[in-house]
Amino acid sequence: MSGLRITDVRAYPTSFPVDPKDSVTLGIGRAVKRDAVIVKVSTADGVTGWGEAHHGRCPGAVAHLVNTTMKQLVVGQDANDITGVWKKVYDKQLASHGMGAGACLALSGIDMALWDIRGKALKLPLYKLLGGRSKPIPAYAGGVSLGYQDSKSLAEEARPHVQAGYKAIKMVRKTFGDELVILTDANTGYTVANARAAMPALDELDVGWLEEPFPAHDYMSYREAARYGRLPLAAGENHYTRFEFNRVIEDGAITILQPDLSKTGGITEALRIAALASSWKLPIHPHTSMTGLNMAATIHFLAAIENGGYFEADISKNNLFRDKLVSTPYKTDKDGNVLPLEGHGIGLELDEDFLQAHPVIEGPAYV
Ligand SMILES: [Mg+2]
Repeated sequence: MSGLRITDVRAYPTSFPVDPKDSVTLGIGRAVKRDAVIVKVSTADGVTGWGEAHHGRCPGAVAHLVNTTMKQLVVGQDANDITGVWKKVYDKQLASHGMGAGACLALSGIDMALWDIRGKALKLPLYKLLGGRSKPIPAYAGGVSLGYQDSKSLAEEARPHVQAGYKAIKMVRKTFGDELVILTDANTGYTVANARAAMPALDELDVGWLEEPFPAHDYMSYREAARYGRLPLAAGENHYTRFEFNRVIEDGAITILQPDLSKTGGITEALRIAALASSWKLPIHPHTSMTGLNMAATIHFLAAIENGGYFEADISKNNLFRDKLVSTPYKTDKDGNVLPLEGHGIGLELDEDFLQAHPVIEGPAYV
């Protein structure tokens, strides 16, 4: 191990304000800023890895957890022993008295950085390290406004992305004919009564899935709503670790699984969730947010699992975490597919000056 002994762990909370003219209103309010937490892990021989911990709507707190408790747990360990680092943090923080989801977000960023280090040290792109191959992965266009607007303007916003090749898009109107797969996301805003009213109509539009009608922990409502329509229920971006996915799978109500690498316990845990799901013949359509790091890592992951589905492409306007913080995380081809990067590890360059220039903005992101 020697050279890959972990010498430092540092998290950078970062934010940028959303221009009011680009701001969208979701069920949870109007977006005023975007946040992210970037995790840098350094090793004795100079190999450095980058990962993303989801901000958990309080990026300063997640970064503080990484920079204090997590750092002390992880420094001195072998960066190659990713399972060992994961287990240590799990035992000390997640399994017992350790801020629950917050600890899982922090661990996710560290885990992703360790895989980046491993790929760089072995001079392999992450997808090869994970046992995958470079293959076209279908992308869907996430983030089409997702706001309250009339169907015509929503369709107009979607049009260039459909013309660019995307075969699936998150929106609720059938403007582009039967070829287009339409996926809907309620962002946890439904009641059971809403789901009962909406699902037959979504079936009529042949919608591909209904995502997160309810909060992640509202298992009973998911069980109830699964009876209301043919379309599958999707969730997972707010489910943590294989232990929560185990219950989701056994309940049988949610059949489209959407773990987020920056939330659910990193790449290590997402691989375990994918293996668990594969034994139930369930597909994995990962959620992606917020930065190009998570996006690129997710494509590597999809290239290496046997039950991978769509890559959630981020087509939101002016996402500096996708366009400025890192080198290009992915390109969509004319058929709406993406390929994993060929650089070592995750394969991205990160601009550390960006982190200095965009310190965290405290406070809620939606008002
Ligand atoms: Mg969602």
